[in-house]
Amino acid sequence: MTYRGRFAPSPTGQLHFGSLVAAVGSWLCARHAGGQWLLRIEDIDPPREVPGSAASILAALPAFGLVADAPALHQSQRIDAYDAAFEQLRAADLVFPCWCSRSDLAGAGGTHRDGHCVAPLHPAHPPAWRMRVPDAEIVFDDALQGPQRQDLREGGDFVVRRVEGFYAYQLACVVDDAHQRITEVVRGHDLLDSTARQIWLQRCLGLPTPGYRHLPLVLDGAGRKLSKSTRAFPVDPAAPLPALRRALAFLGVPASGLAGDVDALLAQALADFDPAVLPQCSGHSVA
Ligand code: GLU
Repeated sequence: MTYRGRFAPSPTGQLHFGSLVAAVGSWLCARHAGGQWLLRIEDIDPPREVPGSAASILAALPAFGLVADAPALHQSQRIDAYDAAFEQLRAADLVFPCWCSRSDLAGAGGTHRDGHCVAPLHPAHPPAWRMRVPDAEIVFDDALQGPQRQDLREGGDFVVRRVEGFYAYQLACVVDDAHQRITEVVRGHDLLDSTARQIWLQRCLGLPTPGYRHLPLVLDGAGRKLSKSTRAFPVDPAAPLPALRRALAFLGVPASGLAGDVDALLAQALADFDPAVLPQCSGHSVA
């Protein structure tokens, strides 16, 4: 089976250093395996979307030498596929409508459990739809972080369709990973704890489970995950070499030579690349 990897940014701002690391890491894994590298714009959350950022991310990637093997898939164009998946879940009674608000769930630590709603049914108002999460443990091997064991109930009954009618990331992600025939998901460590929910959804929908490889997150000097604002470490597509060198160094890839343009630098990095050099940790700061 041909390796198919992907980079799936949300258009919530310009390409920043944290996403460049995910892009470069997923690109290296795909090219090292002689496979394909695909793009997906996760634009299904209009309130969080920053106008123009999808186009700016798509324009920036080739400036860093990261050229996909197919036009980017836009999730905003995929609503019919999410509708179909949602109907499949509903027909199997795997989802339920829920009118609980954040404050209703505050007493339970914000987690909805056992399909048990705190708020009364409110048929006149549109509900959110949640997965009925069983008491089950999901076990998988992360290619970088090693064996994982996640209790599905820790995250509780998660939302697959929001009150506003938008589909949630978890649902759209598994539908599209299957649609794009992704064989390995390479992404940031912050999404490691989404993986059990995604594997559960794949099982419920009869979709294949790809491999997973979660890369370390970019942390600030004090070891904190970079916040949304500081995460916007500028990466300048007009002068891509410094950020690309830093991203490679962050990933432990040697590429120490004097390559003077992005294509030569990436070619050299790829020649030296072995997934075993990727740092096995949840995050570290930039040297
Ligand atoms: N869209 C997510 C992000 O930008 C990534 C999702 C994924 O790779 O599964 O953080």
